[in-house]
Amino acid sequence: MTAKTVFQRIIDREIPADIVYEDDRCIAFKDIHPAAPVHVLIVPKQLIATVNDVTPADEPVMGHLFSAAKAVAAKLGLAGGYRIVINCGPDAGQEVMHVHLHLLGGRKFGWPPG
Ligand code: AMP
Repeated sequence: MTAKTVFQRIIDREIPADIVYEDDRCIAFKDIHPAAPVHVLIVPKQLIATVNDVTPADEPVMGHLFSAAKAVAAKLGLAGGYRIVINCGPDAGQEVMHVHLHLLGGRKFGWPPG
């Protein structure tokens, strides 16, 4: 059996997190190293390691993450907009092998991203 990801341990309440939203399919909590005034991670409760592991059967839960992101953004007052990032694999700097959206807001963002 492979070790649980840190996000699975948060889902299972084995380690603490600042949870801002939760439902039956996903959980959202503040990033421990925020890159913006608002930096929330939105994580499916079902383990999908990376975007490359998404299958057609996962499309409902992946879409649901965006509905949750919208709800979190509204709850946290991001009326001026926000950025959603998904890192996939080493070139993108993915550190945690449990797929997640980064919801970033509360400041202006440049484009292209670094
Ligand atoms: P990624 O590089 O896309 O895999 O992003 C992983 C993110 O998880 C990073 O922004 C980390 O700061 C964040 N992170 C790692 N451990 C924790 C934790 N225990 N609680 C909250 N955020 C975490």
